[in-house]
This record gives sequence, structure tokens and C-alpha cells, in this order.
Amino acid sequence: MDYSTYLKKYPTEDGYFGRFGGAYLPPQLVPAMEEITQAYLTICHSSQFINELRRIRKEFQGRPTPVYHCENLSRKLGNCQIYLKREDLNHSGAHKLNHCMGEGLLAKFMGKRRIIAETGAGQHGVALATAAAFFGLDCTIYMGAVDIKKQAPNVARMKILGAKVVSVDKGAQTLKEAVDAAFEDYLQNYKDTIYCIGSVVGPHPFPMMVRDFQYVVGEEAREQFKDMTGFLPDVITACVGGGSNSIGFFLPFINDPVDIVGVEPLGRGEKLGEHAASMTYGSEGVMHGFDSIMLKDANGNPAPVYSIASGLDYPSVGPEHAFLREIGRVKYDVATDLETVDAFFKLSRYEGIIPALESSHAVAYAMKLAKKMGKGSILVNLSGRGDKDLDYVIEHYGYGEDFKEF
Ligand SMILES: *Cc1c(COP(=O)(O)O)cnc(C)c1O
Repeated sequence: MDYSTYLKKYPTEDGYFGRFGGAYLPPQLVPAMEEITQAYLTICHSSQFINELRRIRKEFQGRPTPVYHCENLSRKLGNCQIYLKREDLNHSGAHKLNHCMGEGLLAKFMGKRRIIAETGAGQHGVALATAAAFFGLDCTIYMGAVDIKKQAPNVARMKILGAKVVSVDKGAQTLKEAVDAAFEDYLQNYKDTIYCIGSVVGPHPFPMMVRDFQYVVGEEAREQFKDMTGFLPDVITACVGGGSNSIGFFLPFINDPVDIVGVEPLGRGEKLGEHAASMTYGSEGVMHGFDSIMLKDANGNPAPVYSIASGLDYPSVGPEHAFLREIGRVKYDVATDLETVDAFFKLSRYEGIIPALESSHAVAYAMKLAKKMGKGSILVNLSGRGDKDLDYVIEHYGYGEDFKEF
């Protein structure tokens, strides 16, 4: 198949990737989304915007992040070579700042004075608060009261960065209620505010915009890998929550002879409620303003989900992933909590890199695959660093004394 025109074709003008995507919105929000779409499609081509984003990436974020060859880990596994794209070294410790800086710059160019978002574990909130501080924008982050108690260090970071954190104490007091509250705010304030979505999900144009802002990850990695080895990798892989780090990493390789695999969290097992593997066990539907594959309960509502990595526990996935699987270009597989923790300890112990639990899913998959392949190379997107996960891991798994040697 020839994918050289893929990026030009998708999404369509109304935000579809095949039958997935679109914008399913309350009528009051339609003009607000149209405004963002039109502004983005104009601004993203202006040399002023492109040059400013380039400068920010280099001077503020520290890009390009390196590609690193895991020689120790690879040797332990056999002859297949594992490489990492080090998004953990992006400023603030994960890939999320790539799209938050893009969204902040867009708000600035559009003359908005305020950006808002919801956050679950707080990672998106911290990245957006970082962007707001940089651009001098007001920032309000909605967070469930239960999550605020669980994620004290991230709440502190957001506040120090100057964001207002609003505690949402309706219903279960977690992510869903925070989304509702942020939407409510946006309905009232869209004239001077942008609602910044934290992944390639939500209504058009967000899956397209966030993808475009993350594209730099794969673009850099492809060049760096070729410079290092003279070849392209045989397989590339990344973890999939909403799907932003993976889509930005995958697309620059779409027209290459490279296998592409997204890794979803299988959590504690296959039973509904014990995992967040939306692509693997879900079905098509509409929620949060877009059509995609999702996990539903008996009434067709978003199902409860679980993952050891709070950044991956979302009951749906970006519409472009649903499309890429349907056209057969990307495969999706899973890693369990235990495989993930094993990979977390092994990468720490053998390479001196403590990965985020989200990213550890992709490392776990790469370790399994490397043993099976026995030769060739795998390039993994290491989406973030694991400092935020240390307390949780130590409490539940100690310091890794029990992890098995190969
Ligand atoms: C939020 C997060 C993810 C999951 O989000 P995607 O949109 O699927 O990339 C993955 N890794 C890290 C480190 C995160 O913080």
C-alpha cells in the first residue's frame, strides 16, 4: 500500500478518519469549535507560528530528545536490539508538553487570554500549567476531589506554576465529573478561553491538532535512528491511552516498511473493569464528542476502566487509531500490570532509566517481542519518566528485589 498521501487525506474536512472521528457537540459549542478549526488551519501554515514553535521546542523543551540504544537490556534478551526515543527527557518529563505548547501558542495567536482543561492523574494539568506560565495565560484545571487527594504532588506543581485548580465534588469526584465541569466552563467562556484537550481524542479539530503537534516525536526519531544505524527499525511501538504519544511517533513511519504496534493496558485481566484495552475489547460508539472504538457498560455508557498507569485508564481511543487498525496499517496488542512492573524494574536496573508506568507497557511488549524475534531492531517511544510513579511502585512492589533475572 502507498501511504504517501495519507496525511493530506486524513482527517477529512469535517474531521473524519474513515467513519471514525467527527464532532458530536451541543449546538452552542459548534461555533467555538469551528473558530478553533479555522484559526488552526490558517495559523499552522504561517511562518511566524512555525518558527516560534520551533524556537520553543529547542530552547524551552530541550528538543530534539535523543534516541538511545539499550545495549545491556538487548544483550540480556538475545540478539534483537531495543532502542528508545527519550520523551522522558522532554521538559516536564513526558511527551504531553509537545501538544500543550502547541495549544498554548495557538491560544496566544488567536488572542485568547485563558486556557482550561480537566485532568485525572494530573499529568495533563501540569503540562498545561507549564505552557500557561510560559505564555502568560490564565489557566484553570478541573480535577475530581478524589483525584486531588490522591495526586497531591501534581496539584502542588500546578499551583506553583500559577494555575487555579478547581475541585469537582459531584458524583464519583473523578475524571468524568472533571470533564463535565470543564465543558460547563467552556460553554460560558469560549469567547476568551480555549479548552485544551489532553490527547488525540474529543471532537474535531483536536485529534488532528494534537496529532500534528506530536508528529515531531516520530519525525526526529526516524532521522536519528537512520543516522545511528543506517537503517530503519523493523518494529516501532508505543503505549496507547488516548493515543497521542503513539500517533505522533507512528505517522512519520507510515509509508516505510516498518511494523507498527500500539500497546494497550490489560491491567489485572480480561474482565470488563479490570483493564483499559479499548481497541482490543471495545466496540464502535460515540462519546466525549467523537466516534471511535470504546468500552461500554450494559447500558452503552462508558465502562469503568482500570490500569496501573493512570495515564492509560481511558475507556476509548483516538479515532485515528481505530482507522489505522481498520485499514490494517497498525496492530494493537496488550501488556498486563505485572509485565509492566517487570519492565519498569528491568529498564531501571539494566539501563539506569526509570520509565513512567505508561511507557513501561511499551517496554514490556518490546521485551517479549525481542525474545521472539531473536534479531533485528525495535524502536520504543519512551513517553515519560517514572518519578511520579515511585511511591506507588514502592508501596505495592518494593524496590524490585523480587524481580526475576532473565
Ligand atoms: C498521559 C500519558 C500517556 C498516555 O497518553 P497518550 O495520549 O496515549 O499518549 C502515556 N505516557 C505518559 C508518560 C503519559 O503521561
